[in-house]
Amino acid sequence: MIQIKNLKKSFRTEELETYALNDVSFKIAEGEFAAIMGPSGCGKSTLLNIVGMLDDPSSGSYQFAGHEISGLKEYQRTELRKGNLGFVFQSFNLIDELTVFENVELPLIYLKVNKSERREKVLKVLERMKIAHRENHFPNQLSGGQQQRVAIARAVVTNPKLILADEPTGNLDSKNGVEVMNLLTELNQEGTTIVMVTHSNRDAQYAHKVINLFDGKVATENQNRELGTQI
Ligand code: ADP
Ligand code: ADP
Repeated sequence: MIQIKNLKKSFRTEELETYALNDVSFKIAEGEFAAIMGPSGCGKSTLLNIVGMLDDPSSGSYQFAGHEISGLKEYQRTELRKGNLGFVFQSFNLIDELTVFENVELPLIYLKVNKSERREKVLKVLERMKIAHRENHFPNQLSGGQQQRVAIARAVVTNPKLILADEPTGNLDSKNGVEVMNLLTELNQEGTTIVMVTHSNRDAQYAHKVINLFDGKVATENQNRELGTQI
């Protein structure tokens, strides 16, 4: 699903060019759950932004489902993101002015899905995330765990091939954190590939493999369990 080879990303500040990613290579198979770990500043966010097609690498290759992404124009990346990728963030990133239903409906509006089909898909995924009883509430009327369930609903309503999760349990207590990890594991077991950045050793145990970054390079890659085995 994902093949990254000799990827580099540099940022120029003043006269200095610093490499946030310096020759990173790895593969993530279809259906795999991968965790990316490493200390602050090692390049995790930069890597997730590239894998999520939000940003373009400076050099190297990124293939997604056989397509070369590196070097694509921003509008081409935007097109590829739609329907293929779903994002889950640490701070949920829901739109405060929209209800739960409307937040989850938004990606389907971008995909020009008609209204009755949107209603059907949104209600189905809200029920799946056990948050349908809150469809007319606004994000600030919900607990953190509930907001993250809405955010996951929004990420998966389009049936994406890949979910990118940036510290998905970072703002949750352990009970809600475990619930979110169980939901991600369920989605993965149904075939969705997941790439998750985390600082949590507990969360990393849910992944098939852990890619450890250090100073913009892959330091180690550890296999927790084989693809196709249940946690
Ligand atoms: P992490 O997510 O692991 O904390 P980042 O990917 O955010 O690491 O950052 C990796 C390195 O790249 C850091 O040294 C950071 O300062 C630098 N960096 C990231 N984004 C930018 C940017 N937009 N401009 C300049 N430097 C950046
Ligand atoms: P669920 O309906 O998903 O089982 P609950 O209804 O048991 O969840 O959630 C506990 C209650 O506490 C809810 O009414 C929820 O809105 C409320 N709640 C918890 N934390 C917050 C918060 N930070 N802000 C607003 N409401 C909160």
